[in-house]
Amino acid sequence: MTAKATLIGVLASLVLLARIGLGLYFLPRIMALSWYRGWLAENPARLDASVLTGKTIVIDAGHKGCHAGALGPRLGLKEADVNWEVAETLRSMLRRANPDVNVVATVGDSITRSEDDPDGDLNLRSQLARRAGPDLVVSVHHDAATKREPWSLWVNLTTVFYHENGSDLSRRSRLAAQCVRRRLGRYLLLPGFLIPRNDLGLLRDSHAPAIVTEASFITNPLQERLLAQPDRLRIEAYAIYHGILEYFAYQNHPAERKTR
Ligand SMILES: [Zn+2]
Repeated sequence: MTAKATLIGVLASLVLLARIGLGLYFLPRIMALSWYRGWLAENPARLDASVLTGKTIVIDAGHKGCHAGALGPRLGLKEADVNWEVAETLRSMLRRANPDVNVVATVGDSITRSEDDPDGDLNLRSQLARRAGPDLVVSVHHDAATKREPWSLWVNLTTVFYHENGSDLSRRSRLAAQCVRRRLGRYLLLPGFLIPRNDLGLLRDSHAPAIVTEASFITNPLQERLLAQPDRLRIEAYAIYHGILEYFAYQNHPAERKTR
């Protein structure tokens, strides 16, 4: 055996040992973390939900009742169905945590617009959201890579949109977006970004703080598999729920924000 072959053999063994070592180190931690997140999602009332008393919150399931939204690449998972599942779970979590919160859905029988009229659908959602006179509007979506490059399929991160125009309302929307983005990033273990968007009617026309969540990319094949699992959707709903509680806590006690 040549010296070169011996060196390659030693290096390959070192890489293998390092991978086993890293696996032994990280695997139990990742398992413990997913068990913990699952347990949290099963117990929404363990957080102080008294901040929700008397609040009206609109939860909009993006695209549901109108069209499919983005599609998953392997299983053909429809964004509208995933959005609906998360929104429904979030609504029941809020109601279960505090019976004195008014949770309003913008979809259900109320939106039955056709595939070829997406603007009509969005206008109707905005109107329904405004009519409820809410304290907060949350529209649940999942992102999709639009570029054709092969690597773009593997993009996966969290983004939360809000409307930015320098007003007090947009400052509060930004705060809500920050709270929810932080929780989504932590619970789903994804990098997260806040993005001001002034082209979304639901955010622009809202009379209350409003956000759109894009918790992850449904076009990412691994993420699509996760999104097909009810547990994963519960954790996402719980992350948004936790962010909403934090937002109202900050609203009620702005001073606390600096100390955390
Ligand atoms: Zn969408």
